Amino acid sequence: MAKYDAVIVGGGHNGLVTAAYLARAGRKVLVLERRELVGGCSVTEEIWPGYRVSTAAYLTSLLQERIVRELELPRYGYRVDAKDPAFFSAFPDGRHFFMWQDRAKTLAEIAKFSHHDAEVYPAYEDLLERISQVVEGLLLTTPPNFPPRTGMDFVDYLKLVGRMRGLGAGDVVALVKIFTQSAADFLDEWFESEQVKVTLATDGVIGANGGPRSPGTAYILLHHCMGGVAGHRGLWGFVRGGMGAVAEAMAASARAKGVSIRVNAAVAKVTVRSGRAQGVVLETGEEIEAAMVASNLDPKVTFLRLLDAGDLEPDFVAAIRHFRIEGTSCKINLALNGLPEFTAYPGTRPGAPPGAAGPHHRATMHICPSIEYVERAWDDAKYGRASERPLLELTIPTMYDPSLAPAGKHIMGIFLQYAPYTLREGTWDDLREPFGDRVIALIEEYAPNIRRIIEHRQVLSPLDLERRFGITGGNIFHGEMSLDQMFVMRPVAGWARYRTPVKGLFLCGSGAHPGGGVMGAPGFNCAREMLKRG
Ligand SMILES: Cc1cc2nc3c(=O)[nH]c(=O)nc-3n(C[C@H](O)[C@H](O)[C@H](O)COP(=O)(O)OP(=O)(O)OC[C@H]3O[C@@H](n4cnc5c(N)ncnc54)[C@H](O)[C@@H]3O)c2cc1C
Repeated sequence: MAKYDAVIVGGGHNGLVTAAYLARAGRKVLVLERRELVGGCSVTEEIWPGYRVSTAAYLTSLLQERIVRELELPRYGYRVDAKDPAFFSAFPDGRHFFMWQDRAKTLAEIAKFSHHDAEVYPAYEDLLERISQVVEGLLLTTPPNFPPRTGMDFVDYLKLVGRMRGLGAGDVVALVKIFTQSAADFLDEWFESEQVKVTLATDGVIGANGGPRSPGTAYILLHHCMGGVAGHRGLWGFVRGGMGAVAEAMAASARAKGVSIRVNAAVAKVTVRSGRAQGVVLETGEEIEAAMVASNLDPKVTFLRLLDAGDLEPDFVAAIRHFRIEGTSCKINLALNGLPEFTAYPGTRPGAPPGAAGPHHRATMHICPSIEYVERAWDDAKYGRASERPLLELTIPTMYDPSLAPAGKHIMGIFLQYAPYTLREGTWDDLREPFGDRVIALIEEYAPNIRRIIEHRQVLSPLDLERRFGITGGNIFHGEMSLDQMFVMRPVAGWARYRTPVKGLFLCGSGAHPGGGVMGAPGFNCAREMLKRG
């Protein structure tokens, strides 16, 4: 029987990061992945011949610079094209709004809707920059013990407060507000234009179980600014080769350090003896011994399925059962034989032929005209219905990397809110395609040619996301990113330091601090804690 220093259950990007850092420190590591490919939610799959689709995650920004550098990801093929323009919003009255990498161009766009908003926007961006820098410092940090018990625990909290030293009094107030307010309330304090506010507010509800008026969504807005590409804070980019190229680069880096990776190797159980993890058992019955085990799976699967109830205290099991993990996001992937023609942006230049590529095709294209529109979309989900008129984010990665599709063809990703995992009536197996039709009809109101250019369509409801990627409830972050499930409380109070009540078993996925997104931070932090153990 092979004996490893560590077995990583799950080859998502976080599992690969943990594995690579452990191997870098000389440990013998094995990664076991259930699917036929690594990457988890960060994958590229050829779902139709010639179309290589980022089936789940589609943009990068949060991936920590330190991890990119230390794992030498560019050497293994990781390349990012920063989006420019970053956003394009189409409005029903035929107007449009762009946000560019160039601040001056963005300000000119904002001024189309409000001179006041154009004047305050630089100060808003600067504030987010200052706050993000403070919060960003926590991403690669192990949360302190909670509740604090010893003198050293209190010292850790004082150190946290010390991180705010560079902030002025107004910034500290803003920081508290950002952790507690709704995205809409936060933005209302700055801006007057509905178009500007809703374009910025979308980041506050992506992956959230709440609307722009739900307290806590301001933090999700900040979470999406917690990185950047091409030196621009909060800017997102397309990965060459799709999001699978992130995981492939990590896997190549890990292998180069000696990590063994097995795909088609689903883990059924973590073996526990005398309160200590001893290894794992695969679904085939194969047993693998290891001194330590790290789970890249979400907290519900890790603790409620891979372990026996007797391995854990009832209080801990109850806390994990209460961990909220229902998703409200849906992903629709399209293969297109042309480009959508938006009535709000008919052509790049006068006389441009219909269907010509324009700057808007290079942006994240929003269909969500107002805060009220998004709030109403959430109202539906709150009562167990898929939004009648959902918030849509459209992206066309082939505008940056044409190799992802056959010549002249395109891929479009539609990420949308809200599609609640638990439906009051019907099932996603019945609703999936009618809902897909509804989304296409909605896009048609803005880009009337869309139906004609679709060659293939894949609708991934939260149930499909759960089935395909193994994420409970289809929650894209491995659990809600609400204040009571963040930092010292992620996944549950008392267990936010990557260790678990089972000795030698660690949590290295997005269900641990600092949460979801293709960030690598939970995997990095977990490796550090495992190395302290042995
Ligand atoms: C539709 C969608 C869109 C998203 N868009 C973005 C985006 O654009 N940008 C961004 O930054 N983030 C995005 N996210 C969020 C981000 O992709 C995830 O939070 C992140 O990838 C999770 O990484 P992870 O390594 O923690 O876990 P996962 O990616 O979930 O990896 C867990 C791995 O464990 C494997 N596994 C499960 N069960 C077993 C088992 N029993 N045995 C062995 N292996 C098992 C899974 O197959 C998977 O490979 C999106 C997510 C989704 C679902």
